[in-house]
Amino acid sequence: MNDAERAGFARHPLRVSVGTVLWCGMEPATLSNLIANDNDLRLFCDGCGRCVDADISRLVKRFGAAIPLPEIGRRSRCSECGAKGGSVQVVAVRWST
Ligand SMILES: [Zn+2]
Repeated sequence: MNDAERAGFARHPLRVSVGTVLWCGMEPATLSNLIANDNDLRLFCDGCGRCVDADISRLVKRFGAAIPLPEIGRRSRCSECGAKGGSVQVVAVRWST
């Protein structure tokens, strides 16, 4: 990782991808972190480029609030192309207030 990449990660501390946890050296972000920070969550598919907004309250009911975000990506499957696991990315977005 070079300095420019590190700076990018600092600006987007919640951006995570499957197998790579970019949480500024802290523990992986969880659903409860998302809720606490008023973040939203999107699932990206590397296979077909599909992008869907996640329903966080549904994810909490299904996985529990303590699940790390990369784990959600690992357990998700694209309904468009069927890609699973490593090809699904979880990205948290902060809406400007
Ligand atoms: Zn897909």
